[in-house]
Amino acid sequence: MKEYDSIVIGSGIGGLVAAGRLVNAGYKVLVLEKNHVAGGYLQSFKRRGFTFDSCVDCFSGLDKDGPIRSVLDGLGITEEIETIRLDPIRLSLYPDFRVTVHADLDNYIEELSSLFPGEVSGLRAFFSVVRAIYSDIKDWSDNLIGTSTQNKMPLNIVKYGKTTYATLLDSHISDPLLKSVLSDRCPFYGLPPSKVGAVSMTALIMSYFSSGAYRVKGGNGRLADILVDGIRNKGSEVRFNTEVIEIITEKNRAVAIKIDEATEFRADHIISNIDYRTTASMLLKSSGGKERSAKREVLFEPSSSFFILYIGGKVDLSSFTGASSIGVFPSNDMEYNFKRESYFSPDASIGITIPTMLDSSMAPTGMHSIAAHEMVDYSFASSWKEVKPELMKRTLRKLEKIIPGISSGAVHIEAATPETLKRYTGNTNGAAYGWTQVPELRQVTTSTTNLYFAGHWEGTGGGVVAAAYSGLKAAKEIEASTRGGTY
Ligand SMILES: Cc1cc2nc3c(=O)[nH]c(=O)nc-3n(C[C@H](O)[C@H](O)[C@H](O)COP(=O)(O)OP(=O)(O)OC[C@H]3O[C@@H](n4cnc5c(N)ncnc54)[C@H](O)[C@@H]3O)c2cc1C
Repeated sequence: MKEYDSIVIGSGIGGLVAAGRLVNAGYKVLVLEKNHVAGGYLQSFKRRGFTFDSCVDCFSGLDKDGPIRSVLDGLGITEEIETIRLDPIRLSLYPDFRVTVHADLDNYIEELSSLFPGEVSGLRAFFSVVRAIYSDIKDWSDNLIGTSTQNKMPLNIVKYGKTTYATLLDSHISDPLLKSVLSDRCPFYGLPPSKVGAVSMTALIMSYFSSGAYRVKGGNGRLADILVDGIRNKGSEVRFNTEVIEIITEKNRAVAIKIDEATEFRADHIISNIDYRTTASMLLKSSGGKERSAKREVLFEPSSSFFILYIGGKVDLSSFTGASSIGVFPSNDMEYNFKRESYFSPDASIGITIPTMLDSSMAPTGMHSIAAHEMVDYSFASSWKEVKPELMKRTLRKLEKIIPGISSGAVHIEAATPETLKRYTGNTNGAAYGWTQVPELRQVTTSTTNLYFAGHWEGTGGGVVAAAYSGLKAAKEIEASTRGGTY
């Protein structure tokens, strides 16, 4: 017997946002999560008085028109979290100079113009194009979730959809060093400028300028936790420690899921917020190998992963002048950072997140909570367990050069490898952003009806805000199918 209108498999941000919107629209929803907490990559954990954000540095979507905020408002829980807007968004350190990525785009352009006076007109032209692309991305995203009537693929997405970020840079900027500086967020996606899509990079960079880069006071995981509370308070369910092992289909229609051989739950609609390959293999199994899209849609490679070193302790961070998100680039050659030989080398870039710069509640008094992100492919090690202790030492040595005294001041140190990320979230090879963010990324489809996708594998893009958009999109599609909407 059907107990729920919709079932959501996985409680990553995409799944929670989909569930939240459906609950707000009056649907009874069941969210099933294999872990003991919600959030997937968007979680935090505590050790010896320190709170560490497991993965996410900062994200957009929390401003008053933001996609996550709309769900919080609907659930009546916006006041339950305190958000912190980052300004500067980031500090990028190069061998001979530093660049502050101000929250205000004009200030950032001014800073770049003073560092690269010969490139002032190129910078203006570059950001004028990037602004235009982002405006179209925003229109298109709003169309996907039903808050805009733009129903044709906007011009700039068509125009730049097949273009790499390097090509976009080359059209306006001559100085190779400035090109590197403008590519400082490429390590987020784990792709060099020559491979990453211009539209994906624009979305990543511009969403922070346009809607703000935020963290949540007390740790980003608070957002997932309060979304769970909001969903439950409205009479829907979130169950933890409950892994979905099968999607049941009847006549090409998703009708139920199984959590063990004896227990299934039925619903009108199923949303998958989990790794696409897992969903596809479930569909292939239930359809007896007939699900055409599930076979066809595994078109892209997974994005790359991260090795993360978490350090809690007493350190002197005065040289960072208040910045809480820092990119360190020992080499000016951006492409080098993405070569296999650069992994864990002293010359490769590293990202450092220090939420306690802005939120002292995340560490004991006078101490800091720090996460250092080394971009790396899962295939780098055949046994992550074996190499982990050595990689922790190497990363710490590298950090010691950037933050002298960090080793002796540390009270707590631990690390997560791509294997940890894979095990924790089920994402193939610990992929940080779903599919690799190459040009021509497309949304996945399925020939199974009543099945929807939410999360960073859906094709809307990688990262928290893109996953949130895909969740709203899935909910919108369900609303339109059950209530005769015009989607
Ligand atoms: C190190 C790192 C740093 C990052 N930094 C940023 C950043 O600064 N800003 C940003 O915007 N993005 C960042 N990202 C990317 C961002 O975290 C992700 O793109 C986004 O959070 C993915 O959300 P999702 O909804 O796809 O779900 P996921 O986070 O992938 O969660 C999926 C959930 O499904 C559950 N699940 C899996 N299988 C099952 C099953 N069979 N049954 C039940 N439950 C299941 C998992 O346990 C998990 O909770 C980062 C990622 C990483 C790894």
